[in-house]
Amino acid sequence: MIVILEPNLSTDDQRYRTIVDHLNSYPGVLVRTHEVKGQQQSLTEIYLIGDTKPLPIDTISALPGVEHAIRVSAEYRVLGRHTNDLRGANFEYNCVTFGQDTLNVFAGLCAVDTPGHVEAMMRALQENGQHCTRMGAYKPRTSPYAFQGHGASCLPYVFELAGKYGIKVIAMEVTHESHVEEIHQALNQTGNPTGVILQIGTRNTQNFELLKSVGRQNEYPVLLKRGFGITLEESLNAAEYLASEGNSRIVFCLRGMKTHLGDPHRNFVDFAHVPVVKRLTRMPVCIDCSHSVGTRIASSDGILDISHVTAQGVVAGANMILADFHPAPEKALVDGPQALLLKELPYFLEDIAIARQAYLDRVKLNKKFLESNH
Ligand code: PEP
Ligand code: MN
Repeated sequence: MIVILEPNLSTDDQRYRTIVDHLNSYPGVLVRTHEVKGQQQSLTEIYLIGDTKPLPIDTISALPGVEHAIRVSAEYRVLGRHTNDLRGANFEYNCVTFGQDTLNVFAGLCAVDTPGHVEAMMRALQENGQHCTRMGAYKPRTSPYAFQGHGASCLPYVFELAGKYGIKVIAMEVTHESHVEEIHQALNQTGNPTGVILQIGTRNTQNFELLKSVGRQNEYPVLLKRGFGITLEESLNAAEYLASEGNSRIVFCLRGMKTHLGDPHRNFVDFAHVPVVKRLTRMPVCIDCSHSVGTRIASSDGILDISHVTAQGVVAGANMILADFHPAPEKALVDGPQALLLKELPYFLEDIAIARQAYLDRVKLNKKFLESNH
């Protein structure tokens, strides 16, 4: 069960203490408080864990200071969509809004290599009105001999350049909890010129200790990749690990599944699951068109498969796009063959805008259909 308190009712309030004392009086029920701090208001939610079936929801809903209480289904307690669950899932981070009704593009470098390439990328983003990017500093690689990313040493110039070009949020993968602290220090040291959404890669989707430590911090939101060889349910439970520790500002990212049945793509593109994740949970859904397709092959119509799958994901309601770009792909240290060129950025964005309009038109059409048929 989730007990949602009235907006701005803080944990210092006497009513909060009375509510918690009341909830603690039920045997076998664990009481956990989550505070969600938004731009406009903060929200306190109390999660009741254990055998909550016998609890009297009407009595709990009527306690002074309680806005309403929701019975949750067993799965995805924090992130799931439950009956009569009217909680919004949008969150704002560093002036960028993430939700199931928004769309943000994160075009950028798979891996940071040189300050020159970072600057060229950031400049192109600014010229095209973009406020978000991706920049890999810590790279999980198949071979221990492959370039592992510049790590903490590149963070100061990446953050300074982001600030210089008006980038508000950088998606950056972390593979160890110490990386979160390194990012925090580098941001502080450079005067917080930008923000970071912590990316958990597909190889770490079930690294439960990493999930728990990233879930315990509330400074940065999280972009969680779907595991490439596990079920969707297992990956959504990984997101729930983050949320159950207290951080529910999560974007869930589809990035394709590892199977030869998807050949000739690097992974089997799974963007048909965009609406599925939006139905099962309240998380915004990201699509990674670059790591799913993995090459710059084009169809008979001349359109790159990367652009085709991006459009497919956006037409299906995707909320975020992660795309590899590089000023000189032949010099890229990681994933050059799938990188789009900077001159392709305006075209890529325009193509996305077409697909987004098609999605919005489809939503409108469906609404009209439902209204005339109920
Ligand atoms: C990446 O986005 O740079 C990456 C390594 O992706 P994934 O974890 O999906 O392989
Ligand atoms: Mn990559």
